[in-house]
Amino acid sequence: MDKYQVLKQYFGYDTFREGQEFFIDEILKGKDVLGIMPTGAGKSLCFQIPALVMDGITLVISPLISLMKDQVGSLNQAGVHAAYLNSSLTMGQYYKALGLAKQGRYPIIYVAPERLLTEEFLDFALQAKIVMVAVDEAHCVSQWGQDFRPSYLKIVEFIKSLPKRPVVAAFTATATKEVRDDIIDILELQDPAVMTTGFNRKNLYFGVMSPKDRYAAILNYLECHPNDSGIIYCLTRKIVDEVCEKLKQAGFSVTRYHAGLADEERKQNQDDFIYDRASIMVATNAFGMGIDKSNVRYVLHYGMPKNIESYYQEAGRAGRDGEPAECILFYAAQDVVTNQYFIDNNQDNQELDFITRKIVMERDEERLKRMTFYCFTNDCLRDYILRYFGEYGANYCGNCQNCMTQFEEINITEAAKALVGCVSACHQRYGVNVIIDTVHGANTAKIRQYYMNENPFYGALASEPTYKLRKIVNFLMLHEFLSVTNDEYAIVKLTKNSAHILQGAETLIMKMPKEQERLVKEQAKGRTKKSMAGISLLTEEDQKLFEKLRLLRMEIAREEKVPPYIVFSDKTLLSMCVIKPTDKAGIMSVPGVGEFKYQKYGERFLASIKG
Ligand code: ADP
Ligand code: MG
Ligand code: ZN
Repeated sequence: MDKYQVLKQYFGYDTFREGQEFFIDEILKGKDVLGIMPTGAGKSLCFQIPALVMDGITLVISPLISLMKDQVGSLNQAGVHAAYLNSSLTMGQYYKALGLAKQGRYPIIYVAPERLLTEEFLDFALQAKIVMVAVDEAHCVSQWGQDFRPSYLKIVEFIKSLPKRPVVAAFTATATKEVRDDIIDILELQDPAVMTTGFNRKNLYFGVMSPKDRYAAILNYLECHPNDSGIIYCLTRKIVDEVCEKLKQAGFSVTRYHAGLADEERKQNQDDFIYDRASIMVATNAFGMGIDKSNVRYVLHYGMPKNIESYYQEAGRAGRDGEPAECILFYAAQDVVTNQYFIDNNQDNQELDFITRKIVMERDEERLKRMTFYCFTNDCLRDYILRYFGEYGANYCGNCQNCMTQFEEINITEAAKALVGCVSACHQRYGVNVIIDTVHGANTAKIRQYYMNENPFYGALASEPTYKLRKIVNFLMLHEFLSVTNDEYAIVKLTKNSAHILQGAETLIMKMPKEQERLVKEQAKGRTKKSMAGISLLTEEDQKLFEKLRLLRMEIAREEKVPPYIVFSDKTLLSMCVIKPTDKAGIMSVPGVGEFKYQKYGERFLASIKG
């Protein structure tokens, strides 16, 4: 079979996505490759397809058991014989799988890196015809990455011990230069074909909100998206527990995941989410690597992550099926403090010497700053992210909060003078809230206790709503007219540019959203419809059909003991509702229906569509 036949036959797709064909061709020519593609772009097919075209065995190295299970499950559903070898198997199962592997049963075998140099595995590998070693999540070899796995360092030793060097194909979503260089050096890739595909994910909507009450805002969002599956990321385990509990009390179908839970519960909860038994996952960043669930419709961040890399990776878990999905970050100034605490107490770099550790720390602080500015910018959010990764966008994407908000330009020169003046007059001793309350003229015990009611700028901006003042402070920080200490007190400080403001030497014009609250609400409504675009475009009758097919999918998923999206994606079901195929040729034209799946379930779906 050639690559096109494999694509159609096993995976049910007619066309390749950006980059896929390039890597497949290079691998088939016998070249090493390094593929850098964003989460959800389709890296797996880049090595799975050549593995099925070539004559011999492909080993896939993968860092996590859940990830191996998911991918092997998907392959088996597509009719490919694949297996995994890792610590989740009993000794009996392990030897059985290895025995079948020796008989040449599996063209694709997923292996945990710790297993590679074990005697049993080497015994197999030295006799087998291994034509490719594919290293998934290859950034795990790099100490610069966040997911460094020492066992990944064994890969190269393993490859060297093989009688004939196979093609080595490495894939990752991490784009930084340090990580890329590390992968090439440490895996000893030989003259690899390297390509970074576009990091843009057009189907993802990006938004940032700084509501006073984050929980209420999230609750409101969930109420607007009742039938969707989504992830809520929180900064700490404690917040995960709180949010999950409150949502449970409020009647949502919700589960949780963080490193503080027992293995058993973690596994159970992850499965509940993947198998659509719980529609909402509340989690720390421990959740996610290798979660291939394709119908995640939103990723909310209850708190700002430590850098754009983490944010984009976590947000990128939404909308893997290519359908519209939303990524909304709920920001509060406290998040900067929490993240700075993580940086100060980072235990990961203990083996580094003092100087290197200091450099790493400074770099982390710089990244945190760039992440914070993402929350402040009034420009296209997508563009901000793409520029961070070194790509240049169009400054306007039309599918992010800033591109969809109407702004007006306002002159904030006087407001800036009052804010900076207030900071200066109190000798840079207080945090953002106190400064804002002071210029706003709040009459609170705290303000009186700090004697801020005697500050010359007390009440100077009484007519401006506080959300506007907050935006202006953010603007002043973004342009470095003010700064904030990254300790728990978050104290507002002057910068070397502050004097310009005080002297009135600079006219400041700022883009301010028009009547923010109202617009945000309207947008939220508009977007609700949009995020369900696929389904809401269906006629009422077709929507019923969609529900029916969804139930059939659930039934099959139970029989097969796989997640529903592995049987067919939402996108595939939607297409069925539109095309309403009546025969084999018809249903085979639906994206995501390959020969094998047709054989297995085609008739059942045809019957269900027929009514
Ligand atoms: P990555 O590993 O890059 O994060 P995956 O390999 O898990 O992404 O693929 C993400 C999703 O995209 C999967 O659901 C997969 O079936 C789908 N996909 C991959 N390639 C194609 C393609 N050529 N056409 C349609 N869907 C595809
Ligand atoms: Mg992947
Ligand atoms: Zn935009």
